[in-house]
Amino acid sequence: MLSKFEGIVFRAKDYGESNQIVLVFTEQFGKISLMARGSKKPKSRFRAVTEPFTLAQFICFTGSGMPTLSQADLIKPRHLLRSDLLLTAYGAYWFELIDKLLSEKEPHSLVYRLLDHGLDHLEKGTDPDVLTRIIELNMLGVAGYQPVLDRCVQCSATTDLTHFSIRQGGFLCKKCRSVDGHAFSLQPAVVRILPLLQRIELRRLGEVSVKPETNQQLESVLSAFIDEYLSGPWKSRQILQQFKQTWR
Ligand SMILES: [Zn+2]
Repeated sequence: MLSKFEGIVFRAKDYGESNQIVLVFTEQFGKISLMARGSKKPKSRFRAVTEPFTLAQFICFTGSGMPTLSQADLIKPRHLLRSDLLLTAYGAYWFELIDKLLSEKEPHSLVYRLLDHGLDHLEKGTDPDVLTRIIELNMLGVAGYQPVLDRCVQCSATTDLTHFSIRQGGFLCKKCRSVDGHAFSLQPAVVRILPLLQRIELRRLGEVSVKPETNQQLESVLSAFIDEYLSGPWKSRQILQQFKQTWR
């Protein structure tokens, strides 16, 4: 049987001398592996559609085994994301989050569109740290660990929010901050921006401008939160952090 679908390539691994197994994230079927026969040959028509970040339409033979690629049409090549090492590192971290938090063949439209719009933004030059925080917050939601960012997690106050508690799972107000001695003392900009990043739809994201120190605290808070609630290690995040230090 032939089946036709659109998908974003996560990675391809060699299989035999000239074939590859391509991991594709699709809206309809979630993550699936496809056999791309002959894709490593120089003149293969599949070469362009087995590169990471590529969005393509795939036509596959499906039967009892792994679907075999029959035809593919490139939709978005996303060259820039592969030629710029830092952008590649950001994208690789997003892939790792999605790969670990969604099982094989678990479709998730929201995450699929999040990733597609996120990669478009990454290519267009939108602040990659802001995009990464949006992806992290969304993926925490998917995993069932959405931090409480609209009120104090202890007393539900919506004003004077000053701290973030990893252990309590969200903001703490001035009065409650003592319940967690390890709570982060937040910059006012972080208190303002964090809930916005949790709510915003990526396709509606316009120009964003966040100060470096604000970006840094947003990253520290969410990295600590992810380390507490999601099981790592997040290898690609470590690589990304090393790259950022080198190029800062
Ligand atoms: Zn409180």
